[in-house]
Amino acid sequence: MASSSPTWLHENFDHTGSAFGLRMVRKLDEVQSPFQKIEMYESTDWGNVMLIDGAMMVTTRDNFFYHEMMAHAPLYTHADPKDVVIIGGGDCGTLREVLKHPGVRTAVQCDIDEQVTRMAEKYFPELCESNNDPRATVMFDDGIAYMKNAAPESIDVIIVDSTDPVGPAEGLFNQAFYETCLRALRPGGLLVQQSESPLALMQLILDMRGAMTDAGFVDFRTLPFPQPCYPTGYWSCTIASKEKRDLTQFRKADAAAKPFDTQYYTADIHQSALVLPPFVARALKD
Ligand code: SAM
Repeated sequence: MASSSPTWLHENFDHTGSAFGLRMVRKLDEVQSPFQKIEMYESTDWGNVMLIDGAMMVTTRDNFFYHEMMAHAPLYTHADPKDVVIIGGGDCGTLREVLKHPGVRTAVQCDIDEQVTRMAEKYFPELCESNNDPRATVMFDDGIAYMKNAAPESIDVIIVDSTDPVGPAEGLFNQAFYETCLRALRPGGLLVQQSESPLALMQLILDMRGAMTDAGFVDFRTLPFPQPCYPTGYWSCTIASKEKRDLTQFRKADAAAKPFDTQYYTADIHQSALVLPPFVARALKD
């Protein structure tokens, strides 16, 4: 995008027959890593924008919806999360939110592509501000291998903050991977995964939950939330538990007294995300 006059960039979502567009000032950077193409733009109204293989990943303006729900919903659902692993999450926004929890003692972020984090450090420094927290480990490896080698019963919460189930992320949405997650989780452990759009990709959520069930997870809750720059703007995360438990119960008083600021997540927002609209509840039988 050579011209500096604003032009529109649209991401077409073939599977939903829709698109999302942002008015851009200029292209800032681009890198072809061994895994994916990462592009960075400056927009007129949404700050910086990261695309991976043409899919919008992060904007300055709206990333908080996703990062806050992917971190705080599972962490306040867990009784006392101490050791957290993020698979993917290379923009570091989820890591920053996880580290706001004073009870968390270790947070590992394992993304397959170091270039995503290097670009985030340059163009989303605010998302990377906790990378040097002594509790944080930012590493680069295939999350599939990482989880396969994780020590049994060593993790309290696993957050799968990956791209869509294609390319390097495809293997993060199947039974074999979920079996390694189950083994790595401590009793009371939770897995949370970005579960795409309940409006346009309900079958993917059902397939995910089916594979999680086959892997041995026993209870599930899908929490919808807004995410404007993703397909349909209506996104979700799905929490799965190792043991039978009611995932509509969470540490509401702790969430209400959270010792940190957020832009979207509150105890009431969490509670409201547990009230599913009929079309979602019917499909998920939740
Ligand atoms: N919020 C975004 C979404 O919902 O699509 C995800 C953001 S984050 C940038 C997605 C990350 O997943 C990317 O950095 C990508 O490198 C990483 N990823 C994809 N496959 C992976 C794998 N097998 N192991 C670890 N990270 C992976």
